[in-house]
Amino acid sequence: MLLIGLMAEHLAMFDAWYFAMIPALSQDSTALTNYSHIDLHSHSNISDGLLTPAELVQHAATHGLKVLALTDHDDVAGLDEARQAAASHGLQLINGVEISVTWRRRTLHIVGLGIDPEYPPLVEGLRQIRAGRRTRAEGMAASLQKAGIEGSLEGAYRYARKGIISRTHFARFLIEQGYASEMRKVFKRYLVKGKPGYFEHHWASLEDALGWIVNSGGTAVIAHPGRYDLGRPSMLELMEEFRALGGKAIEVVTGSHTEAQYQEFARLAKLFGLQASQGSDYHGQGLSYMEMGRLPPLPAGCVPVWQDWPALAAEQGQR
Ligand code: AMP
Ligand code: MN
Ligand code: MN
Ligand code: MN
Repeated sequence: MLLIGLMAEHLAMFDAWYFAMIPALSQDSTALTNYSHIDLHSHSNISDGLLTPAELVQHAATHGLKVLALTDHDDVAGLDEARQAAASHGLQLINGVEISVTWRRRTLHIVGLGIDPEYPPLVEGLRQIRAGRRTRAEGMAASLQKAGIEGSLEGAYRYARKGIISRTHFARFLIEQGYASEMRKVFKRYLVKGKPGYFEHHWASLEDALGWIVNSGGTAVIAHPGRYDLGRPSMLELMEEFRALGGKAIEVVTGSHTEAQYQEFARLAKLFGLQASQGSDYHGQGLSYMEMGRLPPLPAGCVPVWQDWPALAAEQGQR
């Protein structure tokens, strides 16, 4: 008890220091109105979403979006189809990708926006990550088998394209088999560290992922920073390192952040001179934290990641 009390006191002190150090946001700078028509993070069934790229774009258009980035995990194969659909819906499509990275033995997701999907090092890097996913899936299936769950590899692949197998596909198999009633519950009992179905995997390095994105002409963004179990000192070091490697922005408003996290990451962005991004991280009905077209505004004081993009500057002017 004493130890826990001391630790809590220590954490409270760290919190006080942390919030004293990150500047408060002034209310008058870049007062942003509503940009809920811009969504810079979404998934199709090329990775672990439910909708085809064309269906996803149609869904975005029906939900009032004007600008959409398709950011499938480790794959850019949906962009052509999405672009054609976008043209017929009068929607602007941003070429995106969400790259799986290992940093200090933890998995992080780095979103690339405005990338060149044909840039050879990016294409080859993503191909290698996808190959790694196959081996990892075998490890996950073996772990589930040890817990008495048979047939998960085939079961998960029934939900996946050949290219990408992910924990989402295993989760869908586990729900189908009655091991859990919904996504959130699957990820409490399975597929995470210490639980059946977890298999440690080594993804791309932060440096490589940033190199592929930045050298292909794209903007690198830390996806949903509030989801990483990093601890605050490491979070600050991550921001520092990310910026030093050419990273530009962090997701401030995203489907899986709380309102308190919008504020926290808006302040961190300001502290590190990073821009702010926003995206629903939509995966389809039942797989998403947030429906499309429902993004709240970025907190005042944020510099939006699209501020230097000529095509979107016009969008800003219209509001
Ligand atoms: P993977 O890249 O194979 O590790 O799969 C990660 C994906 O699993 C994420 O992109 C989410 O789509 C999904 N996921 C992870 N954790 C959760 C959760 N707690 N609830 C719902 N989906 C989750
Ligand atoms: Mn996903
Ligand atoms: Mn992610
Ligand atoms: Mn995502």
